[in-house]
This record gives sequence, C-alpha cells and structure tokens, in this order.
Amino acid sequence: MTTSHIRPSAAGTVGWPPEMVRRYVAAGYWDGQTLTAPVVAAAAATPEAVALVDGAVRFSYHELAARVDGAALRLRGLGLRPDDRVLVQLPNGWEFIVLTLACLRLGVIPVLALTPHRHHEMSYLAEHAEVRAIAVPARFRGFDHRGMAHDIARAVPTVQRVLVSAGEPDIGAVGATADRAAAVDVDLRALCRPADDVPAARTLLDAAAPDSRAVALMVLSGGTTGLPKLIARTHDDYGCHARRTAEISQFGRDTVYLAVLPMAHSMSLGMLLATLRSGGRVIVASSPAPVTALGLVERERVTATAVVPAIAQSWLNHQEADPRHDLRSVRLLLVGGARLPDQVAERMVPTLTRNLQQGYGMAEGLVCLTRIGDPDDVTTRSQGRPICADDEIILVDEDGRRVPPGEPGVLLTRGPCTPRGYYRAAEHNACAFVGDGWLWTGDIVRIRDDGNVVVEGRDKDMINRGGEKVSAEEVENLAYQVDGVGFAAAVAMPDPDLGELVCLYVVPRDGARVTLADVRSVMESAGVARFKWPERLELVGALPRTNIGKIDKKALRSEVAARLAAEVDRSTPAP
Ligand code: AMP
Repeated sequence: MTTSHIRPSAAGTVGWPPEMVRRYVAAGYWDGQTLTAPVVAAAAATPEAVALVDGAVRFSYHELAARVDGAALRLRGLGLRPDDRVLVQLPNGWEFIVLTLACLRLGVIPVLALTPHRHHEMSYLAEHAEVRAIAVPARFRGFDHRGMAHDIARAVPTVQRVLVSAGEPDIGAVGATADRAAAVDVDLRALCRPADDVPAARTLLDAAAPDSRAVALMVLSGGTTGLPKLIARTHDDYGCHARRTAEISQFGRDTVYLAVLPMAHSMSLGMLLATLRSGGRVIVASSPAPVTALGLVERERVTATAVVPAIAQSWLNHQEADPRHDLRSVRLLLVGGARLPDQVAERMVPTLTRNLQQGYGMAEGLVCLTRIGDPDDVTTRSQGRPICADDEIILVDEDGRRVPPGEPGVLLTRGPCTPRGYYRAAEHNACAFVGDGWLWTGDIVRIRDDGNVVVEGRDKDMINRGGEKVSAEEVENLAYQVDGVGFAAAVAMPDPDLGELVCLYVVPRDGARVTLADVRSVMESAGVARFKWPERLELVGALPRTNIGKIDKKALRSEVAARLAAEVDRSTPAP
C-alpha cells in the first residue's frame, strides 16, 4: 500500500487575525469545544433517548455514541490520523451520521461531496484535498459509486481505502469493480458497529480530542468558479453555527428534526448538529416527495425541518390540494438556500407550520435567520438577520463603494463563522475576499430598517437550480469541449418548480449543428453531475456584449425568460 505524503490542512487555510480570535473567544462564540463534545454530553445525559431514526433503524443516544466511538477507533485502526481527509459521498442515512461524527471525534476531516457528483467533481475533490479514503454507497440511484471510487483511487495516489456501504442491491457490481480495485474495500456498516469496550473507547477518544481551532470538516462552495471551492471549517466556527442555530430555533430534547435536504449541505448539516447537541431526535427522510416526507412528519411527530423553496412549494401544493397529513406537530419550518417568493411564504402558515423561518446563508459561513416570534412581515418578506451579533455586513455598489442605507448592494461579510479564505486557493482568494478579510458574496441584498436582510438578486455567475448551485463558468468550460461550439454562455432560466434551470446559449462555429443532446453527452462522458447539465439550448448568431465587451448575461436571462413566457402564452388555449 502506498503512503503518499499529504500536506497538513492548516497549510491551505487562511486563519482569522489574532485580535479577531481573541474577540470571538472572549465573546463566547468560540467555546473551545469540538463539534462532537456536546453530542457526547447529550449521550451521557440521556442515553436511552432516541437520537436517530432511519427507516427500521432506531438508535438511542447510547448506541449512537457507541457506534461513533467504534467507527472512530476502527478508522484509526485503518491508519487514519487526525488531519487526514476522507471524501464522504453518502446519501442521507445513519451511515452518513455515524461516519461523519466519527471523523469529527477523531480529528479526521470529512470532505462532504454530494451524491450526484460524478468522476469530474469527485476526482478533483480527492486530489485537491489529498484524501486518504473515499466513503461511498456501493450503488445509489442505479449508479456504481464503488466502481467510480476505485477508478479515482487508481488515479489519486493518496487514496488507500474505499469505505463502502451496502445500500442498494449490488448485482454485478462486485465482479465488475473487483478487477479495477486499487484501494482496499472496507465494509462501512461493519466499521460503524458499536465499540467493543464502550467506556474504554470513550476515555481514549476524549483524551485524544482534536483542538477546537483545528479544521473539522470541509464543505463545498456553491461557487462561480470552474469547480467548487473547498471551505475548511473549524470546530470552533462550525460549532458556533450549530449552537446559535439551536438557540435561535429553540431546540431541546423534545425536538424531532426531519432531515430532508442532503446532509452534506451546510444548512442541513448545521440543523443536524444543532439537533444532536440539543439531545433531540433526527428522523432521516429517504425522499423529499410530499407523500414520503409529510407521512414521516405525521408518524414521527416531527417538530422542525429545513427545506429549499422548491420542496416547500411542493409540500404546500400537496397539502392544499389534499390536507390529509396532520402537520400540527411542526413548530418550525426553515426555508432557505434560494429565494422564497413572498406570496408562497404567506401561504405557508398555518398550512405547513406554526412558524415559518426563513434563512439566507452560505457554506462559506454567514447565516441569517428570522426568529420565532418575529412579526409575519419579517418571516414572510425577509430572509432574516445574522445569527451572531459580531457577524459584520456591508453593502457595496459595482465600484465597491458603500450604498446608502436601505439601498440594495452586494453583500460583503466577516464574522466568527466565516473563514477568511477558501482551502488551497490563494489566487481565487485574492478576488473572493476584499479589503480586510471581507467575503464578497455576490448576492445583492437590501437591509431593512429592522436589520433583516432581503435578497434581491445576485451579481455572480451562478445558477441556483432548486438550491443546488451551478457555476456558469463550469458549464461553459465543458460546452467548449463540444464540436462546433464557437462561444458559450450559461444563464439561469425561470422554472415554476425549481426556481431556475440551466440554459446554454451557443454561437456555433462555421454553421456547425450543435444540439442539446451533444452538450449533454459531452457532460455525461466527462462524468459531470447531472444537475449541471443544461435543460435548454439556444443557438444564436452572436452573444450580446456590455459596453466593456463582456457577455451581457442579464440580457440573455431576460431574453430566455421572454421566450419561455411567449411559449407558455402560445400553448395556453384562448378562453
Ligand atoms: P450554498 O453555499 O450552497 O448554501 O449557497 C449559498 C448561496 O445560495 C448564497 O450565496 C445565495 O446566492 C444563495 N442563497 C442562500 N439562501 C438564499 C435565500 N434565502 N434567498 C436567495 N438566495 C439564497
């Protein structure tokens, strides 16, 4: 087995300046605890309480903690050491929770990929984070993740292990991938068995707890660059996020949280950790489909959940058409990740919940939330205010000048949950962070007199497809690999269900014939996550340009929106 050298994670991170560190510690934002310490404490306080429900699996806190410790020690037995990275690509389920907590407990850094990611994204993440292991389901939604993980392991010398969770029946896959195996397969479910000697494991792991200032995990930016950037979050800063989320959402032992969104998303992971640190119960939803999710809400008496607007809208439509599910247990419904239209927000109370909570934030750190008890005008028309009093926000115009109060501008932020740079991305950091460590979010917002943020648009080249972020640049780079593409521009087009979809404008070269199928087939061959594939192709003779010669994306967005509206008009029969 190779033991390729991997550099320490700290080498690629940008820390906070010492005076900020002192300030955040003194103010109690950074409490010096690891992310798992409060979960371990909850397990000690209420060992018999149910921590986790995933289909037929029901773990008490005692069992969860015993499994986390068991997995942590077995990871160590496999040679994984604090600061080593593991690429985790697991669907929502108990294995994700146990493995992620085990990594955090040991100080191993989980790098959280999404299940739709394919070779294109996964190989880059494995290489960039220099991961020692990859955790995947054998198959998921018909795709052979194990085979992909082995292909990556062959190409990326740091990868020594592939941790595989059985999941869907693996017919044929074992034979098909065994030949390609470069790394050693580890049965993830066996790895996640309870520790053989629970008290001894606990003592050992408590004594070896990582430093709270160390990198705890890496999440992906919903960025605008060729491939997603990695954001290294420390125990202290992510702990602050989880703790403030729990406090603001009034989580406690009676919280029953339905995990619907992919747990690898920062908003979802934050809620998960907020629940477990509060001694509450996590219910894993296998699908956000209304019948499945709302059925679980009713059966498990769910009190809180977090969704993107597209899911909220589908639940609302379902419940309004047929209010068969009793949702009275839902005390809090967090909606974020994309803009919730005010009119939809107004319909949500009381049909879906007693309290609508809107959220705006990013994996880079800043989180804004409305508060329980806020007036309806705040919860239905704003995306909330920062979770920490020391989150700093300023709004600037195109020239970087502060805008007058009440006017929209691009939001820049710094704070105790917002690291000062992406992981190993010095060049990109030079433009993504401006002045003295201000993160340029590219979101255009307005701040109301009451301090709540209203998201009005964005000044960044990204498409928000139902909460999944697609970088226009990444799509364009891939489009240029299609024969006959002269110029390409990816823009958002409106969609009634997902909010936005990817539309690709192409200027063909020398009258070449380019089809949507050509573009999609190139993306498929390159192993690109499906949610990034364009849904519409517009062939044009030239692309509009701004007066400084840049492609005028605003004009393209308006044009495709107008075309879609005209198509709807034409297909609607006259009264
Ligand atoms: P992610 O890091 O994937 O959560 O993506 C963060 C980005 O999602 C933000 O920079 C915004 O562009 C967008 N976003 C998050 N929440 C909202 C919201 N409530 N309204 C509009 N856009 C949002």
